Amino acid sequence: MTILQKIRNTFKDYEIDGLMITNSFNRRYVTKFTGTAGIVLISKEKSLLLTDFRYMDQATKQAKGFEVVNAGRDIDKLAKLVHQLGIKKLGFESKNISYDDFHTYNEAIESDLIPVTNLLEPIRSIKTQDEIDCIKEAAKITDEAFTHILNFIKPGVKEIEVSNEIERVMRDNGATSSGYDMIVASGYRSSLPHGVASSKVIEKGDLVTLDIGALYNGYRSDMTRTVAVGEISDKWKEIYTIVNDALTIQINGIKAGITAQEADALSRNFIASKGYGEYYGHGSGHGVGLEIHELPFMSTTSKDIIEKNMLITIEPGIYLPDEAGVRIEDDVLVTESGCEIITSSSKELLIL
Ligand code: ZN
Ligand code: ZN
Repeated sequence: MTILQKIRNTFKDYEIDGLMITNSFNRRYVTKFTGTAGIVLISKEKSLLLTDFRYMDQATKQAKGFEVVNAGRDIDKLAKLVHQLGIKKLGFESKNISYDDFHTYNEAIESDLIPVTNLLEPIRSIKTQDEIDCIKEAAKITDEAFTHILNFIKPGVKEIEVSNEIERVMRDNGATSSGYDMIVASGYRSSLPHGVASSKVIEKGDLVTLDIGALYNGYRSDMTRTVAVGEISDKWKEIYTIVNDALTIQINGIKAGITAQEADALSRNFIASKGYGEYYGHGSGHGVGLEIHELPFMSTTSKDIIEKNMLITIEPGIYLPDEAGVRIEDDVLVTESGCEIITSSSKELLIL
């Protein structure tokens, strides 16, 4: 089934007869158009991509099956097209449109505007082969950058220098850029689950958490490794082993049909059984693709189901405030009976 068919199949449930897509990731997903401006209009019969003169050539080439319209930022032109398409109830992405924009659209467009959430996102969570190939390439670039950086990390080097070097290597190896604000958190900062690289100098005896990923052809990878710079205490070696075992346990339990809550409980219960439950405060993984965090989300409250061809992260961690932290994160492709790990950097405790 094509993406357009999948979208139109949802119209009945949402009680709409047309959809306006304004979210940039959804626009790209549906049209394959990689430009930064445009609105997609889908009626029961027609599919339009409205963009501006800068992108007319590119959009016509990329957005196969779409009628490309030069509409600039002209809301009246958009309104006219909605009218011409005969759309009476136009779904709009309510998570993506500001209160002000809503009023502007509502004044210009005659049709009823119906708020729609999570129409495209569940469709996007199941990856096509092309998407899987892009994420695998992003993961490969990330693995290469990790191998490279092991020789770069040493006492006296700043976290930000490590982050910049990873970015450089990723770009040299074909990435557009890194896939997000990469985390390089050393020593006491490694207890910050989202400690974006700072000017802190890495010292002997530090644990260094590297949460790194590449952007390749619009798709992202997301991998974390924690390494030691010089010897660390037995306590932290043990914590490392617990997190690594928790990761393995969750990976071994992932398969199509399991709920995201069940998946999450695998690493969470194990870490709790070792006495560190309260130091594992975040969800155990998420979908990755065009966005760094997308459906499904694995947490204690998630209602998502893990399905075949989802591409998800698994990322247990233990963080002791002001002391240190360990997180290890892999990306896996969900299969019928299990999953395939696509990040292949070593998970042994590396002492640099
Ligand atoms: Zn990550
Ligand atoms: Zn992640």
